[in-house]
Amino acid sequence: MSALGQWLRRRLAPDRPPFDDLQPTVEWQVNGLCNYDCTYCIQSRKHRVGMPDEERVARIIEGFAALPGVWEIKMSGGEPFAFHGLMKWVIPGLVERTAHRISILTNLSAPLPVLERFCALTGERLGITSASLHLEHVEPDDFIAKAAAYRDLRARHNPHSSFVVNSVLVPGRLEAQAAIKALVEAEGLRYFPQLMKIKGGVYPYDDRDVARIEALTGGNHDPNAVNRAPSYQGLHCEAGAWYFVVDQTGQAWSCRTGKRFSDADADASLGNLTDGTFARRLKGGPCPWPICPCTVPANRGVVRLPGPRPGVDDGL
Ligand code: SF4
Ligand code: SF4
Repeated sequence: MSALGQWLRRRLAPDRPPFDDLQPTVEWQVNGLCNYDCTYCIQSRKHRVGMPDEERVARIIEGFAALPGVWEIKMSGGEPFAFHGLMKWVIPGLVERTAHRISILTNLSAPLPVLERFCALTGERLGITSASLHLEHVEPDDFIAKAAAYRDLRARHNPHSSFVVNSVLVPGRLEAQAAIKALVEAEGLRYFPQLMKIKGGVYPYDDRDVARIEALTGGNHDPNAVNRAPSYQGLHCEAGAWYFVVDQTGQAWSCRTGKRFSDADADASLGNLTDGTFARRLKGGPCPWPICPCTVPANRGVVRLPGPRPGVDDGL
């Protein structure tokens, strides 16, 4: 779309995203608490704590209810199922008080009956479930069997939702990944490798690991197939306007990198959904950051990559 077309669309339809293939999305870090303690976790132990109370959850959801149109609320943590309020307040609140699509990132440690209740409660509103395989805590065969059982529950309650198995490519432990990929795919599940992030960037893998990563991914750089946490610096991005991240307190930022560097850039903060200070940006602009750590902005059409996009529902 031309710059003039975009300008006109923003003027005439301010409640609609400026691009047809842009899926408005919130990434909500519902709680800090996690029941695992992975050595490679990007969140430090100090920050992997805390849960909101019922009133705060309700206020955050009221803020989501006021967003124009249908957004995707992608929940993560910590581990969202480790929070007792997820099934009591969060899911019922989203279903009853908003029209938004619900997605979740989980380590899949919740018992199957809880996962079944989640499927039943979210029903047709469930979008994407991203299940992360953490080999420090589970055996691959057990995880894949549970993932297959969850897939069957989903098929019963929400046949149109999608499911993907994430696996972090931990340095020095990549020998196992080819076998993991084969096991996941043999079960008919989708395998999604993620390069490991460290503070401020991607882990500097040695040459042997780089060769293994290229073999595993077939050299693919498509954000629908692998998370390489690339740089989109300078590309147009609607972060802050049609995409933002929210933490367990209701504080909002334009994107994950904006949150990380918010001390250096006050514009990255969008205020708090629970105290009346939240405000989205009117429009996006060039990405100012050297790393985009998660694939959501790329796969939802938030950052405008050159070339055609396969479709907003293919994202992770
Ligand atoms: S499951 Fe995820 S959030 Fe929890 S410790 Fe592991 S990497 Fe961190
Ligand atoms: S492209 Fe840049 S501004 Fe947009 S979400 Fe990624 S890091 Fe943030």
